[in-house]
Amino acid sequence: SYDIAIVGAGHAGAQAAICLRQMGFAGSIALIGEEQFPPYERPPLSKEYLAGDKPFERILLRPETFWSERQVDLQLGKRVTAVDPFAKLLTTSGGTQTGYGQLIWATGGTPRMMDCQGSNASNVFAVRTRADVDKIMARLDNTQSVAIIGGGYIGLEAAAVMRKLGKQVTLIEALDRVLSRVAGPSLSAFFEKEHRDHGVDLRTGYTVDHIETDEAGHAVAVRCGNGERIAADMVIVGIGIIAQTGPLIAAGAAGGNGVDVDEFCRTSLPDVYAIGDCAAHANAFANDRVIRLESVQNANDQAKVAASHIMGTAEPYQAIPWFWSNQYDLRLQTVGLSVDYDQELVRGDPVSRSFSVIYLRGGKVIALDCVNATKDYVQGRKAVLEGVPLDLTELANPAIPIKEVSHA
Ligand code: FAD
Repeated sequence: SYDIAIVGAGHAGAQAAICLRQMGFAGSIALIGEEQFPPYERPPLSKEYLAGDKPFERILLRPETFWSERQVDLQLGKRVTAVDPFAKLLTTSGGTQTGYGQLIWATGGTPRMMDCQGSNASNVFAVRTRADVDKIMARLDNTQSVAIIGGGYIGLEAAAVMRKLGKQVTLIEALDRVLSRVAGPSLSAFFEKEHRDHGVDLRTGYTVDHIETDEAGHAVAVRCGNGERIAADMVIVGIGIIAQTGPLIAAGAAGGNGVDVDEFCRTSLPDVYAIGDCAAHANAFANDRVIRLESVQNANDQAKVAASHIMGTAEPYQAIPWFWSNQYDLRLQTVGLSVDYDQELVRGDPVSRSFSVIYLRGGKVIALDCVNATKDYVQGRKAVLEGVPLDLTELANPAIPIKEVSHA
């Protein structure tokens, strides 16, 4: 039995263990993860790691010896299948049981896969884990053409890497623009042009009917809803994740799309916290809507909140969201959330490949997407936090630093 069991050894789970020790927690900690590898950074999986520019050792969250040095009992290759919140017991895939005093649920999500014919073919891949990406990399030598399904960040980043590696890339997005879930039309249009300029055959408004396979069961093409056939030696699917909440919900935790948590990351079950991608929480930066945030920022900051609540020093979760994406030589930095924005303002000229998109609600800056514009990102962050209506003409003028823009 452990004083604290953390389920999920990804960004959030690892950070929770790190924070607890930093805060002086002296009890026993188990960090239980389904993957075979010690906690590592996920963002490089669709960037430097996929490109072969960074070996696995360099994306570990901590050196391998860190966990034993900090008396964190890292248990890899173990899936928690059931939670008994009354007896405070976890059951793992091997059938063994582990007791806990407090439980931190940090299981992230599994990639949503296509449910059409052919989607189980051996060369149809997700990009969520090191194992996924190793499978992709192992086939690259025999791959000329790649079909990517999904125009979110992961699909776009994978497209950029595949182009860099010289592959022929077709990207299929069902909606009428890429990044529609997270950004406004200006940013979508910019990235669409960039990808086309870099040779990606980008098809928006294309649905997938099925994946065509050969006799050996390998995918050979994507068949679109309009009948078009896109030949491919490999298919990469990046259409979002499903929060991994099964055992907790089965144990009676409130939730639906994610496990519901309060401002201290507490679930509705006693002594059970949930953090990271799987935690549905009301977010002040999302107009108080209940959301799940899929970002390193959220994983780390919620880990800190849960750990400090356990230590009796909690402050409610109120961290400002931020995110980044690297595609080609473009560095996108996002701060705030554009949820319920009513105005979108482009600051600078996208043609210069250094500009920002500013999202406003009721005249206040609520989010920025900054492309190769770190100064805007830093100063825009303050504008989001201050929440003061600003002069829009000045705000749109890149010659005026955001911090010098007059109040409206
Ligand atoms: P995860 O990191 O997914 O960790 C959850 C772990 O729990 C997994 O290892 C899983 O195997 C394990 N697990 C699940 N169920 C069980 C179970 N029942 N028992 C035991 N273990 C279990 N964010 C950014 O901010 N910037 C980026 O540029 C960015 N790029 C990304 C690129 C890719 C390819 C991906 C996949 C994600 C990216 N993200 C990025 C998102 C970021 O990585 C996630 O938000 C973050 O990893 C969430 O951390 P987490 O701990 O909640 O989940």
